Amino acid sequence: MEQTTAGKYPFQIKIEEGPSISATRIVGNIEGKRLVVTAGVHGDEYVGIQAVREIIEELKPEKLAGQVIFVPVVNREGFYEGTYLVPEDGENLNRCFPGNQKKSLTWRMAYALEQTLYPNADFLLDLHGGGSYESMEPLAFFPVDAGETIASFTRSAVQKLSLSYMVQSYAKDGLYSWAAQCGIPAILVERGGKGTWNREEVAACKENIYQIMNFLGLYPYSKQEKIPVEIQEAHYETAGTCGYWYCNKTPGASFTKEEIVGYLMNDEGQIQQEIRAPFDGVVLYHTNALGVKAGMPLVAYGKIRHGCATDK
Ligand SMILES: [Zn+2]
Repeated sequence: MEQTTAGKYPFQIKIEEGPSISATRIVGNIEGKRLVVTAGVHGDEYVGIQAVREIIEELKPEKLAGQVIFVPVVNREGFYEGTYLVPEDGENLNRCFPGNQKKSLTWRMAYALEQTLYPNADFLLDLHGGGSYESMEPLAFFPVDAGETIASFTRSAVQKLSLSYMVQSYAKDGLYSWAAQCGIPAILVERGGKGTWNREEVAACKENIYQIMNFLGLYPYSKQEKIPVEIQEAHYETAGTCGYWYCNKTPGASFTKEEIVGYLMNDEGQIQQEIRAPFDGVVLYHTNALGVKAGMPLVAYGKIRHGCATDK
């Protein structure tokens, strides 16, 4: 039975033949929506993890209308090992949705998360950051391939976030993107990267959580100092071969059509791969690693959608 009295209630998400995931349900004084906030799906993305830990302490149930389920560290083993993968089977949890109880641990984690977090959720916010080798601008992804209702509701939600970019997403196999496919409005916010965290980014991440709570009528929070720019046609370039990666642009930098955003070189100094801009756009994030192997992400960029701020 779920608690209905205002308060903070820790609980465990049980995994078939695996370690449980710790979560906390915070129930408010009056009825309202149910928000789910997850962090640490990737264990080396620290800003969201620390933000959720702090907000569980700070939040006053008597000021809350509705309830929030917080999961501070979904991938606990990866967190302790400092990796985005689940160490036991080497899988990326955000590529394992929908889950499967008959497969390896990461797939069973995905299954348990769906079973526990999706039912009755009015909104899901999944917190990430750049990977250990990535630099990025703070951004939010919202699903544009899960029906018009989800697209317009989540677009309105991310417009309320103080961050640089809101990016149209067509993903389907992650915690938030599969939730959207199941009819739950869900978004992913990314802050920080390079395997680090700091107080400013944690504070900014907490502000984003409060902005979503305010959008859903759960908690009053009216500040918004930055309005995100909408990005469409996001491209995620990966290395076609191993080599030396040289990025010509920093996150947030703009480029024009036909400009070389970055290139991959071999030992002999020959260019193996050139990332030539297919349109005028901006860089969202890129890999800092000098050495990359085939399949590794190199750079993500997209096109600014003009006149988006007033769209419904
Ligand atoms: Zn991530």
